[in-house]
Amino acid sequence: MRPFDTVVVVDWSAGKRKGPKPQKDAIWLGITQDGASLEPVYCRSRQIAEQEIIRLIAAEKKAGRRLLCTFDFPFGYPAGFGRHVTGSDDPFEVWKWFDDRIEDAVDGSNNRFDLAEILNEMFQGAGPFWGKLHKDRWPEIPYRKAGIVFDSFAEKRACDLVSKASSSCFQLAFPPTVGGQAMMGFPMLNRLRRLGEVAVWPFEACEEAPVVLAEIWPGVIEKAVKSALAVEGSDRIRDRTQVRLLADALARLPVDRLSAHMKDIPPAAREEGWILGAGLTEELISLAARTPPLRNDCFALPQGVHWTPVAEALALLEGRLVAVAQVENVPITQACGRIAAHDVSAARANPALPNTAVDGYGFAGGRPDGMHRLPLVQGRAAAGDAPADVPPGFAIRVLTGAVLPQGVDTVILQEDVSVSDRHIMFQGMLKRGSNTRSAGEDVAAGDVIVSAGRRITAADLALLAATGLSQIAVRKRLRVGVLSTGDELVEAGASAAAGQIYDANRPMLLALLEQMGHEAVDLGQAPDDRVVMRRMLDNCVERVDAIITSGGASAGDEDHVSGLLEEAGAMTLWRIAIKPGRPLALGMWRNIPVFGLPGNPVAAMVCTLIFARPALGRLAGAAWQVPQGFEVPAAFSKRKKAGRREYLRARIRDGRAEVFVSEGSGRISGLSWAEGLVELDEDAREVAEGDPVRFIPFGSFGI
Ligand code: AMP
Ligand code: MG
Repeated sequence: MRPFDTVVVVDWSAGKRKGPKPQKDAIWLGITQDGASLEPVYCRSRQIAEQEIIRLIAAEKKAGRRLLCTFDFPFGYPAGFGRHVTGSDDPFEVWKWFDDRIEDAVDGSNNRFDLAEILNEMFQGAGPFWGKLHKDRWPEIPYRKAGIVFDSFAEKRACDLVSKASSSCFQLAFPPTVGGQAMMGFPMLNRLRRLGEVAVWPFEACEEAPVVLAEIWPGVIEKAVKSALAVEGSDRIRDRTQVRLLADALARLPVDRLSAHMKDIPPAAREEGWILGAGLTEELISLAARTPPLRNDCFALPQGVHWTPVAEALALLEGRLVAVAQVENVPITQACGRIAAHDVSAARANPALPNTAVDGYGFAGGRPDGMHRLPLVQGRAAAGDAPADVPPGFAIRVLTGAVLPQGVDTVILQEDVSVSDRHIMFQGMLKRGSNTRSAGEDVAAGDVIVSAGRRITAADLALLAATGLSQIAVRKRLRVGVLSTGDELVEAGASAAAGQIYDANRPMLLALLEQMGHEAVDLGQAPDDRVVMRRMLDNCVERVDAIITSGGASAGDEDHVSGLLEEAGAMTLWRIAIKPGRPLALGMWRNIPVFGLPGNPVAAMVCTLIFARPALGRLAGAAWQVPQGFEVPAAFSKRKKAGRREYLRARIRDGRAEVFVSEGSGRISGLSWAEGLVELDEDAREVAEGDPVRFIPFGSFGI
């Protein structure tokens, strides 16, 4: 058999049309082409997905390539069902039956339950289809399975039993369900068949067909999906990860193995269909597990885009990047600045028991207006004591933090009390519960106190400790390599010939990364020489999780970072509408993301703060970071043209934002002068002194 050049896994859905933002329960296409997994394609509706599949089929056929396109719903019903409905054992007759009758509106509403009613009427007794969205609609469809007898055909197909697939094609509601998807899928398959040169496995000969359609069950690689999601973080869309991993796993099956598997099917499969990969669970899981978390094309930009607005560029990075840092447990004393790997719940309430907030005297109940006199019991309750009960009508001396003794729910401040003759006297009124803290008023046991992706602060350590925790699962620090490029560069302190400049970016970038909580790895300087640079990049891949380069990122002759990444087939020049900043070269080098920054120190720093920081944070397992700024009056005036977002080196003095005297991008002194950035959005603007402008302090970038 000729190997498949492209493998597609379609996560088909029976539901309504979805919104434009990628989400779960929509249709996702996992695509692995020539062994490299592409960014899964999100389709809002069945119609869009079908068009996308047709487009893929046409493109692959035209290029003379083989395509295996797989779907996650049964291609047939248990043997015997089709003959009863269509009078034939031919599974394609069932597809046609549905193709003739299914109505699928653009908004995703459809008549699948009406068809299930018609089918159920063809059979004696209740069923076989069951499960529905509205209890009182479709009277012919039982709400639950109880009472349905499967005697003239089986409830499940032979392959469902072999692969331990949990759902039957007669079940139309309640997850996990495939019944509705199958009904909505048959007409589409029937149309794909008619495109020509398309064979359906296992109903037709598939050895040579340019396009093969087959059924898969994503549950086989569940284990691999789970562990991938554990690394990528809980905000990942499961369906997307699932289709990507399964497409990779299928594409990696050796062709002989796949060919033998495709031939090795029982006779029942001719009518019922069969699950591609049934019985290959362990093999597929281990193949899926080899998928690196980031795709080679994760930095690809939509076609035809010339200048990408900053917000769009950030949204793309947010959507594409996932956590790559592994997880480790550390004592909380080492957790400051690290990123929580999971949500953390309080082991104990804070306070654990009701206690007193002040030094004073405790007793039961509030007191009305007027003078009060209470006898004191022996002893006192201090923090850490386990005092005896206090009888009604008595008071006890209490010190801040002491657990309230049995019989005490109210405390009066010692300053408001006079003590004589082992009695206290005070003036009411006093509300019940005054000056006390109730158990759990701060945090209840089980409350989430630190969310996954949070960078742990010193205050978090107090909270963790107070609620009974001493260990926390955090991400390992992201190892970020920093490489400077350019023939003109010399190391700080070395002697510099005329025309040479000192490498200013590397010390700055290394320090910025450390401040952001990463492990900065010094990769040194590379000359403008592709052979040397390639060797340097190759040599560091074992030591780093991401690489930041500066210089050589544009599209010129001496721009070797972009040149190399382009050779590797995984680079996009991001022309972002930002000043300062030239194109960023974003790409992958041996599965490691590379952020190619401009060489200019000002642009290098601004691009690091605006783009590299949230992107690296994501790789490190942090929640997506948006630097917080605020509006202050400008202490400057400026006329700004429309089209680009601008960042000015700025600082606050006397409550007003000053900007550096020059916007020149070579002015390193301005970087050092600044304490933050003024952000002016894409619109044209005439800033006059006193006008509000947005200031983002460097502290908001974690530096
Ligand atoms: P490039 O992006 O390579 O075209 O460089 C743009 C400008 O930034 C040139 O003037 C370079 O000399 C300068 N430059 C590049 N790398 C560094 C560096 N590491 N430190 C200081 N300036 C640099
Ligand atoms: Mg250069």
